[in-house]
Amino acid sequence: MSASMAIVLLGPPGSGKSTQGALLSTRFGLGRIASGELLHEEVRAGTTRGVAVRRYMAAGELVPDELLVDIVTAAIVATSRSGVVLDGFPRRIAQARLADEVLGRLGWVLKAAVEFSVAAATLRARLAGRRAADSRFDDDPAVIDRRLRAGHPPAELLAYYRDRGLLHSVDADQPVDAVTAALVDILGR
Ligand code: AMP
Repeated sequence: MSASMAIVLLGPPGSGKSTQGALLSTRFGLGRIASGELLHEEVRAGTTRGVAVRRYMAAGELVPDELLVDIVTAAIVATSRSGVVLDGFPRRIAQARLADEVLGRLGWVLKAAVEFSVAAATLRARLAGRRAADSRFDDDPAVIDRRLRAGHPPAELLAYYRDRGLLHSVDADQPVDAVTAALVDILGR
């Protein structure tokens, strides 16, 4: 994979997108934009938007487009790298179209959209472990189930990328190194 390329990581919370996104960004010199992290920053900053965002996140629901797309697209445009790993964005078709438009404007080519597939039991265990480690407000057990339901990429989003020959799937139940190797293989094709 060369610079000026983009990769989209699709998958529910706890599927390992951020770990792999960080590894890929280092390995290929790409920027990394994680929508969930940007939203958490907005909440921490205590802005009016952050207060609205928190309500959705705390309920385990997706945040409405109007509250997040300009934050995410601004972050993509502002990245100092050429090329980007998109982690957690897009999660809806409208976001996917917007991502295409922004990447097109930057002259970056979307190389792959990779679906992280993981068993539900693994996801629950990972999210519970993460809660113990860093106490995110949306890793509350009551919210985790709703986040898992809302966080799976919708079928039409997968179809959007499949129709363009960009959709790949990795077994993200494997150890970190094996998942990275699968991703590097996809990107090297
Ligand atoms: P994540 O860290 O990617 O699991 O995101 C944490 C939370 O942020 C999700 O449960 C959603 O509430 C919200 N979120 C992150 N990315 C998006 C997105 N692309 N669209 C809507 N909501 C999002």
